[in-house]
Amino acid sequence: MFNYFQPSKIHFGQGMLEKLAKISSKYGDRCMLVTTPNVEPLDKLFGRVKNLLSSEGIEVIHFDKVLPNPTVEIVNEGFKLAAEHKVDFILAVGGGSSIDTAKIIALTNGLESIDWDNLFSNYTNPFENYSPLSEYKLPLIVVPTTSGTGSQVTQAAVITKGLEKNTIFHPNNFSNECIIDPELMKTLPLKITASTGFDAFTHAFESYINKRASVFTDIQGIKAMKLVIENLPKAVMDGQNLEYRENLAIADSLAGCSLANSGASTPHPLSEIIGGITNISHGESLAVVFPAFVKWSWNNNITKFAKVARQFNKELYKAEDREAAEALYDELVKFLKIIGLYKTLKDFGVTEKQLEEILQCPILGFLPFGSKEELQDIIRSSY
Ligand code: NAD
Repeated sequence: MFNYFQPSKIHFGQGMLEKLAKISSKYGDRCMLVTTPNVEPLDKLFGRVKNLLSSEGIEVIHFDKVLPNPTVEIVNEGFKLAAEHKVDFILAVGGGSSIDTAKIIALTNGLESIDWDNLFSNYTNPFENYSPLSEYKLPLIVVPTTSGTGSQVTQAAVITKGLEKNTIFHPNNFSNECIIDPELMKTLPLKITASTGFDAFTHAFESYINKRASVFTDIQGIKAMKLVIENLPKAVMDGQNLEYRENLAIADSLAGCSLANSGASTPHPLSEIIGGITNISHGESLAVVFPAFVKWSWNNNITKFAKVARQFNKELYKAEDREAAEALYDELVKFLKIIGLYKTLKDFGVTEKQLEEILQCPILGFLPFGSKEELQDIIRSSY
């Protein structure tokens, strides 16, 4: 038995951004555009988006204050601006940080203020059919400019409060529509291409080995991993190549759909604890813990680990499952070296004091994936 749900309408293809005004116009004539600061190289894209919308008579209020790993303070500011201008819909143009900020602004629109304690404590289950938080929830259109978080097709929004990264799950966090145009990823710096591309790989992998995985998510997960393995090393050498960009964009959404329906595994919560305390980017903090996680867990699901290992190295089709599963660690390390992400926490400048803070994070005692001691061991080995 399994459930599969995916309500976001996907418009995919090179040049698809040109359809933005037509897609948006049914949601009203006043929109709040949510982005990171209006500076190079994305300023040109934001200008193009505003021109496309105004040519259809849509007024744009631009909230350009999002920063990577968005905080409650940033979301509060956007929330107030949306209320002040009584916008009809929200449009996120950017990576996961802009999309997640936009999700919470849309979700809470109409409330007097955002009750963060309520959001962080009561919306923690990705598969719960929570009631709407507000009857004035705004429609959400998403234009991703990175290929990694899958946020355009997930019910999750990751927001930081102090040193804690929290994921808020709500069925109303799914975008209404998303426009995925691989041309928009050409300006993405190669380092962020690598970390976001690896993020997509982890969504596919973690949802593939999750107990909730189904035949639907397995197909999506395996295809997404194959696309990342084949295209990410080439994209980090040649970010202008549209074929690689397109394949990574497909992988991103396939992995996002799989994650939304089957859920993450150990590396995601660990990377969120690390990201909250150190501000290392999401994809990089995943890459830091992944080798130790694979070494610790390959024996728990030999068939699936073997299948993933064979995506990296076709020679492993000749090996028994057990041998192939164990080889995944070496294959993964090789891959991380090629894309420039084989690093330890120490390489990122994490101090021993910060390591201790990470190890003592109370959440480690409540995760369903392993004992506190086992999870601490993964983190220690990643230092
Ligand atoms: P990001 O949105 O934080 O962006 C990183 C940087 O890249 C920013 O400075 C941004 O302006 C820049 N950038 C983005 N697109 C660009 C482009 N095309 N050209 C040039 N610069 C560009 O990066 P991200 O990795 O997409 O998002 C990370 C956030 O998403 C984290 O907070 C993470 O926790 C969250 N996340 C959310 C989900 C979800 O399902 N909601 C899943 C995974 C991660």
